[in-house]
Amino acid sequence: MENMKKITINNDGSLNIPDFPVITYIEGDGIGPDIWSAASTVIDNAVLAAYAENKKICWLEVYAGEKAYQKKGEWLPDETLNAIREHVIAIKGPLTTPVGKGIRSLNVTIRQKLDLYACVRPVKYIDHVPSPMKNPEKVDMIVFRENTEDVYAGIEWESGSDGASSVISFLKDKMEIFLPEDSGIGIKPISEKNTKRLVAKAISYAIDNGLSSVTLMHKGNIMKFTEGAFCQWGYEVAKERFDEKTITENELFDKHNGKLPKGKVVIKDRIADMMFQQVLLRPEDYKVIATPNLNGDYISDAIAAQVGGLGMAPGANIGDKCSVFEATHGTAPRYAGQDKVNPCSLILSGAMMLDYIGWKKASALIRDAIKSTIKDGTVTYDLARQIEGATKIKCSEFADKLIEKMKC
Ligand code: NAD
Repeated sequence: MENMKKITINNDGSLNIPDFPVITYIEGDGIGPDIWSAASTVIDNAVLAAYAENKKICWLEVYAGEKAYQKKGEWLPDETLNAIREHVIAIKGPLTTPVGKGIRSLNVTIRQKLDLYACVRPVKYIDHVPSPMKNPEKVDMIVFRENTEDVYAGIEWESGSDGASSVISFLKDKMEIFLPEDSGIGIKPISEKNTKRLVAKAISYAIDNGLSSVTLMHKGNIMKFTEGAFCQWGYEVAKERFDEKTITENELFDKHNGKLPKGKVVIKDRIADMMFQQVLLRPEDYKVIATPNLNGDYISDAIAAQVGGLGMAPGANIGDKCSVFEATHGTAPRYAGQDKVNPCSLILSGAMMLDYIGWKKASALIRDAIKSTIKDGTVTYDLARQIEGATKIKCSEFADKLIEKMKC
């Protein structure tokens, strides 16, 4: 297309979005091609319905996973990472992690190489979606999971390896810490800089979207200098950068009788294990959750289950230089190529992407169409088996239904 242009970033981090932006995509492995085909058609039709011919996404395919290996002989070519950097925004289907070939998760590698430090996962109930909760409409949270460090940093040594023996000897000789000789070793780094930029992003999001709280979820009672420090640095960055707009939970009760002053965001913290109870028993008390990498992995899947499971859960990996929007589930290889699975996770990730570039009229059309199609009881197999009287339709047919709705 002649008038297509690249998205660019200003010094303050804001984006310049042309009317015909080039956006990169990775189709993904397994069910990836099925859900990408559905999602891209829905996104294109939403943009068309919202803005007629005045805006359009110009898709540029980049390769990762099995397709990259077939075409380029590499699982994650540098040219893919460079193309995402150059075009600022990408959307991706799930990728297989080849097992036992010494290859780390491609998803984790993409996040680390592009420094996509915030994994953002909104979890909001959509009417009529089957849920195990009594009052699922109370579930409306967004998780900001730190994406670059913690035990996910990939610093680990197998039991019996030279690396593990060296660390065990070092701990014995220098620290008088005695570990079993056959221990496997993993390192859990959590830094002030990376914590503060993640928590700052979570607080900015709460302020920009009028949300009442940011909860620092941590296991600092046990891991004091990693998870405990995460909590402490979280409170510090709230004070340093958002003093006018935030108060702590202690201040809320000591000075305001528990009533949140207008325009303020309350910063609170919860121990990770207790948080799993809280999101079930009192979901309405939590809006934004900021947490280190591993906690974030667990809690985001757990709360996704409250609103329809992984097939309904969107996500984004956001950095300062570029962002990658993605379905949060894996490649579900058992269902690959059957045009069967639920494409909502990737479609809703596309809606997040449209929000991110400011095309909110199009994202609203997508969300309304999903709501109304599920209300009609025309759904893919995963939801059909939970909704009495539902009609089971294929992945592509679900996309067609959404498009019909958006045209009305
Ligand atoms: P998975 O998410 O692929 O599938 C688990 C189960 O969830 C499936 O069997 C299916 O029942 C259900 N499911 C998943 N997506 C669905 C959808 N869209 N609609 C309906 N049901 C759906 O998890 P897994 O089996 O543990 O992993 C398979 C592969 O995916 C592995 O290679 C793993 O490394 C990879 N993976 C990739 C990502 C990613 O790309 N972000 C995330 C997780 C796992």
